[in-house]
Amino acid sequence: MISEFESLGLDEKILRSIEKLGFETPTPIQQQAIPALLAGRDLMGQAQTGTGKTAAFVLPLLQRLERGTCVQALILAPTRELAIQVTKAAAQMAQDKAIRVMTVYGGQAYNLQIRQLKQGVDVVVGTTGRVMDLIRKNLLDISQVHYLVLDEADEMLEMGFLEDVESILKGIPAGRQTALFSATLPKEIRRLADQYLRDPLEITIESKQRTVSETDQRYCLLRQDNKPAALVNLLEMEDISGALIFTRTRASAQNLADDLKSRGYAAEALHGDMDQTKREKVLGAFRKHLINIVVATDVAARGLDIQGLSHVFNYDAPNDAEDYLHRVGRTGRAGGKGIAITFFTPRERGLLKDIESYTRQAMTALPMPSKENVIDRREERFMEKLLEALNTTATNRDRELVARLAEFPFAVEEIAAAAIKLARGAEKEIALPAAPEVARVDSREFSPKKRGYPKAGMTDTPHSFKKKEHRKGQRREEGMVRLQMNLGSADGIHPNDVVGAIAGETGIPSRSIGKIDIFDRHAFVDVSEQHSSHILHASDGKYKLRGKAVRLKLAAKS
Ligand code: AMP
Repeated sequence: MISEFESLGLDEKILRSIEKLGFETPTPIQQQAIPALLAGRDLMGQAQTGTGKTAAFVLPLLQRLERGTCVQALILAPTRELAIQVTKAAAQMAQDKAIRVMTVYGGQAYNLQIRQLKQGVDVVVGTTGRVMDLIRKNLLDISQVHYLVLDEADEMLEMGFLEDVESILKGIPAGRQTALFSATLPKEIRRLADQYLRDPLEITIESKQRTVSETDQRYCLLRQDNKPAALVNLLEMEDISGALIFTRTRASAQNLADDLKSRGYAAEALHGDMDQTKREKVLGAFRKHLINIVVATDVAARGLDIQGLSHVFNYDAPNDAEDYLHRVGRTGRAGGKGIAITFFTPRERGLLKDIESYTRQAMTALPMPSKENVIDRREERFMEKLLEALNTTATNRDRELVARLAEFPFAVEEIAAAAIKLARGAEKEIALPAAPEVARVDSREFSPKKRGYPKAGMTDTPHSFKKKEHRKGQRREEGMVRLQMNLGSADGIHPNDVVGAIAGETGIPSRSIGKIDIFDRHAFVDVSEQHSSHILHASDGKYKLRGKAVRLKLAAKS
């Protein structure tokens, strides 16, 4: 039977490698790219990690190359990790051909690279900076390259390598074949393609195909200072085999990894401040299951092929929907359904909507797990373990010990309870939120049927919700001042929004907000005297509710 790979035009040697790799059917990008690349066409592929793009350009490249005396193919990647990953994939796919592939990247000893280059290499996979270096030093000759791949071109642009890429492009003979891959196509990348690619075949792998349909996507709306507690409690509630946690900055990745470590989690940071050896050590530890949590920044994690991730946490929300796809597309790859949990602060609510419309999939609201939820979960787990032990491990000596203890004036229940207490002595302290949560965005988060931890959230969220619901008609409390807001029910404003916006934007606790009366074109809000000037200052047209700037002033005394 002719396999689907064979019908793309791949020859026997390559098909053998594909079989060894266990690929059965080509992915959409492979179906489109392989025949075109085998026919010698240039290609511009909009696709990201996880689509099978590496095999899409490596397989035809290997088929078109024979072992030679000079570097014939150059693959440029934005990060060392991606370069190493592509090299590994290429080496696996080249098993039945005598083609020599090597990686070059910054931070690696020059001697080793020089020796290998002198011995003869057919394909070089490298990061732009080091490739440039080697060319300048006349250690790498690209004058015979006839196959060039730019992988994750938008990342190279983002990292400021575009100029280097162009200067490398200029050094390669014009008759070459070029394939450019990019997750997004900003105008600089389009210009690069227009200038350096000849009549390329353009392939776009739709976002939906790209990623998240296989991912259970959830989100948690919370204040910034409640994130640490929410994260560690979620780590307990969920069954985590491997988690990648994204933060916005290198410093926060490091701080969060340190914090998790100090709480007893097997976590490490992965970011650009770390040298290459350290980064590889972290990845190695993850692969060997010595750690199961990696805290990373977008750039450090880009292009990583980390297998076995059950969860991706967006501790800091991504910049935009594209970045969200990049991050979340990493879970659930091995056929299993992955879980992605994104934290949004109240002011990031717009981004949540953007992501949902971009992925065309709704995310499910997840209440912040409460202390009770964590306790319930721990007890559940402990019982499972104990029941298992009851079936298997108790020895006669254990039973004798119980009999001896029973000679003391204690009931067997008391002895068992004390033993459980001892056995659970090493449990971590439960993290408590820094402050009560603010009101949530919309009613779907309050629906108990909607999702999540049955008894959870119900302890936290409805508290503030109920408080607001019963607010109307209450008398103004001691120590509160009344503010007037320029928006009202005609603007679509609900009490929830008012509490959410004020508490979220100013950082004051929601309990400092009292009675709310909404009229047609304005509203009154009682706030604690202590916070009133801060609220007035922070609210003067600086944020919006339902698309309109919020203005607050002291209400006239009635
Ligand atoms: P990539 O998008 O190149 O990073 O590939 C993502 C993952 O998909 C890698 O682990 C590949 O080994 C795997 N892969 C690529 N092509 C196929 C295929 N046709 N069938 C199954 N797995 C594949």
